[in-house]
Amino acid sequence: MKEFDNNMNWYKGNIHTHTKLSDGAVSPEQCIHIYKEKGYDFICITDHRKFYPDAKKDDFLVIGGSEFHINDFDERRAYHIVGLGIDREIYTDDTFSPQRIIDEVNRQHGLAILAHPSWSLLTHDDLISLRNYIGIEIWNSVSDAYSGRGLSIDYLDVLASKGVFKLAFAVDDTHFYQRDLGGGYIMVNSPDLNRKSILDAIKKGRFYCSQGPEIKQINIENGILNVETSPVKKISFMTGLFFCSDRIYMDEDGETLTKASYEIKPDDAFVRVECTDEHGKRAWSQIIRC
Ligand SMILES: [Zn+2]
Ligand SMILES: [Zn+2]
Repeated sequence: MKEFDNNMNWYKGNIHTHTKLSDGAVSPEQCIHIYKEKGYDFICITDHRKFYPDAKKDDFLVIGGSEFHINDFDERRAYHIVGLGIDREIYTDDTFSPQRIIDEVNRQHGLAILAHPSWSLLTHDDLISLRNYIGIEIWNSVSDAYSGRGLSIDYLDVLASKGVFKLAFAVDDTHFYQRDLGGGYIMVNSPDLNRKSILDAIKKGRFYCSQGPEIKQINIENGILNVETSPVKKISFMTGLFFCSDRIYMDEDGETLTKASYEIKPDDAFVRVECTDEHGKRAWSQIIRC
């Protein structure tokens, strides 16, 4: 069973970015130009409580979206939810619960993604108690560059170990277009570059997250998971077991790797692949349920 279709194309996207419509540094037109120049194929402009619609120009796709936020200073936690692929403006205010926002996004045929849980100081129980959101930002560039809390991958594993499976997203959440630009993105395996195909591939989990390395294919055959990557230094197979002696593959002489295999154990409920290149840049697969 192959995770990706070799006959399809790869499209690079950033699905969380801000512009002058809220607290970003550049106009939507400049934002589109900047990402296009950096080799991206699509973005979603997600200004705070502001809707930016679909657009397509010169082989560059903008998918309609918005970010909805609840900053709860009393409880010292924030819920920020990206609505990817919504059809129109959704009204929300400070009285809305996070679940009500997720429900509204779903009602507008969008995908609700829980943004930067680590930056937001959310607990695992906070995430487990919400329903009907599709995924979690496991990497957020602005949270890393300016707050030191960019990585949220542990939420994905802890939730999966409790039977709650979510998609993983890497995003820039660009505000300043400096250190927060280009630090994390998704690569979508899709037949073509249009809103429907990209959203469909995302819903099916046919994409991976990256800061640079490529995950070319993941294949499960006879209980063995095989992965092919661009040259990396380390390939890890993350599961729901705390004891695992054959999880991490590195060449003893420091040579780069482009493939590795993992024998799925009888007690493994899931496996995901994470690889790290010589510059410390990572790529993360989706969770694969066993
Ligand atoms: Zn946010
Ligand atoms: Zn944001």
